[in-house]
Amino acid sequence: MPYVITEACIGVKDKSCVDVCPVDCIYEGENQLFIHPDECIDCGACEPECPVTAIFPEEDVPANLQSYVQLNRSAFKGENPPKRPTR
Ligand code: SF4
Ligand code: SF4
Repeated sequence: MPYVITEACIGVKDKSCVDVCPVDCIYEGENQLFIHPDECIDCGACEPECPVTAIFPEEDVPANLQSYVQLNRSAFKGENPPKRPTR
C-alpha cells in the first residue's frame, strides 16, 4: 500500500517530503506533488515531514480525500506526468 499525497499539498509544495524519500518516488506536478504508487516502498519517512499533513498511507486516507488515491496513480499516466522535483 503506497503513501498518497492529498489536497493540503496544493499550493504549498515545500518539498520537505522529497528530501527524506529514500527511493526518490515523489514527483512534482503543476499544483501538488505526487507519490508514484509503484515505486513507493511504504517506509513512512515522508509522512511526519509534511507541515500540512497532506501525506497518508493509502489505507488511512480520510473519506473526503479518497479521490487522491486514484489521482496519485492517474497523474503518472497522463500526457504531462509529474517530474523530478526542482528546487
Ligand atoms: S513512504 Fe517512503 S518511499 Fe513512499 S513516498 Fe514516503 S518516503 Fe518515499
Ligand atoms: S511535504 Fe507536504 S506540502 Fe510539502 S511537498 Fe510534500 S506533500 Fe506537499
